[in-house]
Amino acid sequence: MWRIDNQCPQCGADTCLEETQRLFTCPFCRVKLFITVDDYFRYFLTPSAPGMEEAIFVPYWRLKGMSFSYDGAIVHTGLVDVSHKATNLEFLPSSLGLRSQTLRLRFVSPEIRGSFMESTCSPGDILSTTEKAPDAETPQPSEKTFIGESVSMIFSPIFVKDNTAYDGILREKMTALPEAVSEELIGSRGNAEATMAFLPSLCPDCGWDMDGDPESVVLTCRNCRSAWGASRKGFEKVPCSFLPLEDDGLLYLPFWRMETDIKGIQLDSYADAVRFFNWPKAINREWEELPFYWLTPAFKINPELYLRVSQRMTFQQIISFMKNGLPEGSLYPVTLPSKESFETLRMILACGAASKKDMALIFPSIRFTLRHAGLVYWPFHASGTELIRSDRHLSIQANALKWGKYI
Ligand SMILES: [Zn+2]
Ligand SMILES: [Zn+2]
Repeated sequence: MWRIDNQCPQCGADTCLEETQRLFTCPFCRVKLFITVDDYFRYFLTPSAPGMEEAIFVPYWRLKGMSFSYDGAIVHTGLVDVSHKATNLEFLPSSLGLRSQTLRLRFVSPEIRGSFMESTCSPGDILSTTEKAPDAETPQPSEKTFIGESVSMIFSPIFVKDNTAYDGILREKMTALPEAVSEELIGSRGNAEATMAFLPSLCPDCGWDMDGDPESVVLTCRNCRSAWGASRKGFEKVPCSFLPLEDDGLLYLPFWRMETDIKGIQLDSYADAVRFFNWPKAINREWEELPFYWLTPAFKINPELYLRVSQRMTFQQIISFMKNGLPEGSLYPVTLPSKESFETLRMILACGAASKKDMALIFPSIRFTLRHAGLVYWPFHASGTELIRSDRHLSIQANALKWGKYI
């Protein structure tokens, strides 16, 4: 787990954040701020010498989270934790190695002096290069999806002097450079753009201090019972509903309820879904009118369980008893954004399709559009080491939630 040095935006005190932390409480002035970003977080490693002004920061992608791939027959799952250079400069090491774990990181912001190079490849390119070469027995995965909110960029410093590149941390010579490359590097000076913001964690509707875990990507207001995600521009309300139960000791787990348009497949109603996935249910005529939606965990768990829980929740959906707003009782934090969950729907579809043969044929042409996303809080009972859904249709090991926090 990395640590990020950060000055409190309110009192200026030096503080330290965990890599996955989104809700920051200053230990000195007690201000509570929600950290948001437009796309992904950008960090840099502090150069040791000669100084920030001289440093050229070269980008590395850092990917940490779940990965899924579909090979035309089954969906493979895995965990990813890699860094890889995001430029085509040959002399740079291909990964950061242990640097990001042993050295402190800082957020990149426009006030930081130094030159930040742009990336020339996407995180998706990195995944394909870090894949092991497939042997003859293993079919080449036809599609890979990476999810997990830890796509970030780390800038590592170098210096260029007298046509030579130096490591900005070890101060060691890296390589001699042709004059043209050297000039290009020195000429590539550009400032960092503002992409992140610290928002006071006050409910935009009622001004109440909102709740969340350090890793929460959605904050909740206990006063007006609303939920809020955020971009750099500010908070955005997240529609939520829950299954009301008169019972004590319930833990409400959050799920993303997503309605989609899917090009290439008829999956509009719940009856369509029963047919497509061949669920063992006799189709009720009302289901032809009942809109189909996906229910996926809004929290991190291991990817295999994520697929299983998504299928189970989507299959056993009940909407008639839902109530709008937030339930009373303990709420498990939302740690996986809806955007990330949406990316996995193709894999859930491939996983559950009744006809594997047809799926392989149509898969490349299937296109998903997200029509609507909201949160559904579902009640679970703790029983021994398990959390059991109120209607007993699903159980999750409590440890799976604990370990999920490290994904
Ligand atoms: Zn402070
Ligand atoms: Zn409120």
